[in-house]
Amino acid sequence: AVAVRSVDKSYGNQQVLHEVDLDVAEGEVLVIIGPSGSGKSTLLRTINHLDKVDRGTISLDGELIGYKVRNGKLHERRESEILAQRTEVGMVFQNFNLFGHLTALQNIIEAPIYARKIPKAKALARAKELLARVGLADKAGAYPRQLSGGQQQRVAIARALALDPKVVLFDEPTSALDPELVTEVLEVIKDLAKSGTTLIIVTHEIGFARDVADRIIFMDSGRVVEQGTPNELMTNPQHERTKSFLSKVI
Ligand code: ATP
Ligand code: MG
Repeated sequence: AVAVRSVDKSYGNQQVLHEVDLDVAEGEVLVIIGPSGSGKSTLLRTINHLDKVDRGTISLDGELIGYKVRNGKLHERRESEILAQRTEVGMVFQNFNLFGHLTALQNIIEAPIYARKIPKAKALARAKELLARVGLADKAGAYPRQLSGGQQQRVAIARALALDPKVVLFDEPTSALDPELVTEVLEVIKDLAKSGTTLIIVTHEIGFARDVADRIIFMDSGRVVEQGTPNELMTNPQHERTKSFLSKVI
């Protein structure tokens, strides 16, 4: 589903991604771990073109994200095309990022109605289904400030699913939550993983990573250092940096 090829990215004179290569198959659950500042969020942001790559390409189901090839050269796509491509990629952030002036239900139907022009009745029916799926059927009319952090994050997940994205990206979805609210969010993500949705998850929850991942990638200093199944990576890491990172977080 997702193919990242030799991606470089710098901010000013600091290179934060170095020749990153990554493939995520349809239905696969990929977890990215690594120390703070290793480029995990930047990598996620390049996947939906919130950050532009300096070199390399990213494609989703064979279509280049953010660029088009014309006369053998890459040209950035028009803004309208970029926005359309972004609707194929769901994104869930650390801080929920719900619209505070909209109810849970309104948050979920916003993009289907305005970005995809889906008829309101259909968008509402789908939104209600999604709220039920994340265990919040009774909170349709609640505003974000009336919801706990865990409930807000579950609304954010329902919102990310509303456009039936080809892949959903999670950037530390539980790190802003009180510890007792973490499980309810992780359970929702585990259900998604089981249902065959393609997921890329950045997380510091190592136990969860082990449970949910088909494959784990360890990044350090903007490079993919090592990858493998949870079992391979956790029980038999090959690189010193992976070993030392794991010894600190497990
Ligand atoms: P964390 O675990 O703390 O979230 P991360 O692995 O997600 O870290 P990134 O946020 O991708 O790391 O940051 C990688 C590097 O790029 C860091 O050194 C960071 O300071 C730098 N960086 C990220 N975003 C920007 C920006 N918009 N402008 C300048 N530098 C940035
Ligand atoms: Mg980050």
